[in-house]
Amino acid sequence: MWVADTLSRASVGKSKQEEEKEAFVIGLIKNMPISDKKCDIVRKETEKDEELKAVCEWIDEGCPKTKDPLLGRYESVKDELTFCDGIIFKGCQIVVLKSLRMDMLRKIHYAHQGMTKCCAKAKGLLYWPNMKNDIKNMVKHCEICQKYANSQCKEPMVLQEVAEGPWSCRA
Ligand SMILES: [Zn+2]
Repeated sequence: MWVADTLSRASVGKSKQEEEKEAFVIGLIKNMPISDKKCDIVRKETEKDEELKAVCEWIDEGCPKTKDPLLGRYESVKDELTFCDGIIFKGCQIVVLKSLRMDMLRKIHYAHQGMTKCCAKAKGLLYWPNMKNDIKNMVKHCEICQKYANSQCKEPMVLQEVAEGPWSCRA
């Protein structure tokens, strides 16, 4: 059963195209490695979030040219933006609002993989302006990753000590 979400005010008299889009989105969400609960959180937060609320209205208006710096961040992807089932999508990716980005970053990086792998993981699923940069910073500033990187750096120093063995000629 399809229950209209709180944000879709125009749940009556939907066009066939809109219905198809909704069916597509529902299928999309079902296939995503994101729980229903998480989707509900995204919906509720999207409703409250000033940035995404503005983006919703902008999509509604057909994404006209804007001087608003907030919307400007979405301008390069505006052709791919849709609002459906209470969630904003960029193509097949969920547009993540600010308050959930940190949480998503932690999830993306839970296995402490490097920047490339983390980006690849996020790319098919999530979107927000500057996501790649945020992932980069996350990996760069991760304490566990740094610790690991430092322990690898010690290796050459050990080798150097060995090299200063019998053949080192210091008069
Ligand atoms: Zn890490």
